Amino acid sequence: MCPHIALDRLARFSSKGPNLEYVSTRGTAPALEFEDVLLSGLARDGGLFVPASWPSIDNDDIRALQGLGYAEIAARIVRPFIEKDVLSDAELKQLTQETYAGFDHPDVAPLRQIDDDTWLLELFHGPTLAFKDFALQLLGRLFEHVLARRGARITIVGATSGDTGSAAIEACRDRSNLDIFMLHPQGRVSEVQRRQMTTIVADNVYNIALDGTFDDCQDLVKALFADHDLRDEIGLSAVNSINWARIMGQTAYYFAAGAKLGAPDEALTFVVPTGNFGNVYSAYVARQMGLPISRLIVASNRNDILYRFFARGDMSISSVEPSLSPSMDIQVSSNFERLMFDLLDRDGAAVEEAMRVFRQDGVLPDSQKLSDDARGLFEAHRLDDDETLEVIRDVHAQSGVLVDPHTAVGIGAARKAPRDGHKRVVLATAHPAKFPDAVEKATGIRPELPSHLSDLLDRPEQAETIENDVAAVRAFVRAHAAARNTG
Ligand SMILES: *Cc1c(COP(=O)(O)O)cnc(C)c1O
Repeated sequence: MCPHIALDRLARFSSKGPNLEYVSTRGTAPALEFEDVLLSGLARDGGLFVPASWPSIDNDDIRALQGLGYAEIAARIVRPFIEKDVLSDAELKQLTQETYAGFDHPDVAPLRQIDDDTWLLELFHGPTLAFKDFALQLLGRLFEHVLARRGARITIVGATSGDTGSAAIEACRDRSNLDIFMLHPQGRVSEVQRRQMTTIVADNVYNIALDGTFDDCQDLVKALFADHDLRDEIGLSAVNSINWARIMGQTAYYFAAGAKLGAPDEALTFVVPTGNFGNVYSAYVARQMGLPISRLIVASNRNDILYRFFARGDMSISSVEPSLSPSMDIQVSSNFERLMFDLLDRDGAAVEEAMRVFRQDGVLPDSQKLSDDARGLFEAHRLDDDETLEVIRDVHAQSGVLVDPHTAVGIGAARKAPRDGHKRVVLATAHPAKFPDAVEKATGIRPELPSHLSDLLDRPEQAETIENDVAAVRAFVRAHAAARNTG
């Protein structure tokens, strides 16, 4: 078995060359190349990695995407972000083919028109029925490829309140160079979401049901990452959306949808149900690369900090309230820091200071100016639960389509936004059967799981229940990671 690697020390192994480099949003961590960015997740100065410059896809490149299959489009869009010595053109093509072959729709990310100028971009045909499969299925394969090249192994530890956990476990199961430990708050995730994690039986998958809340789970994971001995010993790594590869992997479907609806000759508006700001930031990346996007509409539920920021420059933290769209029940959106880096002219020291004040006072300084600058592209709208149910009911009555509550928040936001003559694409981020209670409440119809999950409620479950205690979780992770390492 190969040894675990100390991820902070990876930079030393990088080969030098004219490759794209990644810099930290806090400005002081050393610039790294893709492979190290993939494996380390967060920069050592606490910032997030972004490319030092934006690669460009010109109009002819975009036109050439029309008519291509999704896997081919994905290979072309992520190509400039990954060094060719890490992954050759042929290897990258094969990797994206394998990644999207497991999706159960021939178009992978099909468009469905719901009125004169509005389309749904269905991103729920992957194995766990939410858009997170697009990036995580790619990420699992990238990890495997890179670790095999290095002869190294890593240990992934994460916390989930829902969709990320199942998508990450499904992407990492049975991969020989990594183990994944996923913490969820016992009794506090939906049955479908829990079963999508706990019914996966694989030697390298460990589900931990923590006797605590989601915040407890997150605090525990942070505590493990802060333990540098453990970090080095087991090669701790992250799969949440602070990882640049997640952002990169989501950029391709904006290009795919754009090319189908007339880009580069037409500009489009995208409407994105938003929580951690990862998905909509991927749209921003597509625009920086050259996709004509007229507006990005951020759709929020009652946890509306981003709405308040974009609408009136108020970015102040309040408490997280549960809603019908739980994957968007977030107050501090980690990927917003990546946009802020650009809004502050890529001044890492200014980002560091703004984040320090934000964390200390709960209010982002100078947010009025940032909001004014962002408003040329971004706009935001919010829906409460009653409005969300009303949209689910109305879309079904008008077009016969069942939508999940996250997608409904997007459609509702599109309806609130003034029309600007551009085609609008609402991202359908989850399958309605993932949130059957809300859909049934609105329409009287209980959506059915797709056939590959139809026996989900009968499959045996496997999870370790652990008390809310860092030492107990650390001991469990260490023992199992070590056993795999020597066994
Ligand atoms: C994760 C998730 C979101 C929020 O996406 P972000 O990238 O965190 O903004 C929205 N809808 C669904 C169904 C999700 O799983």
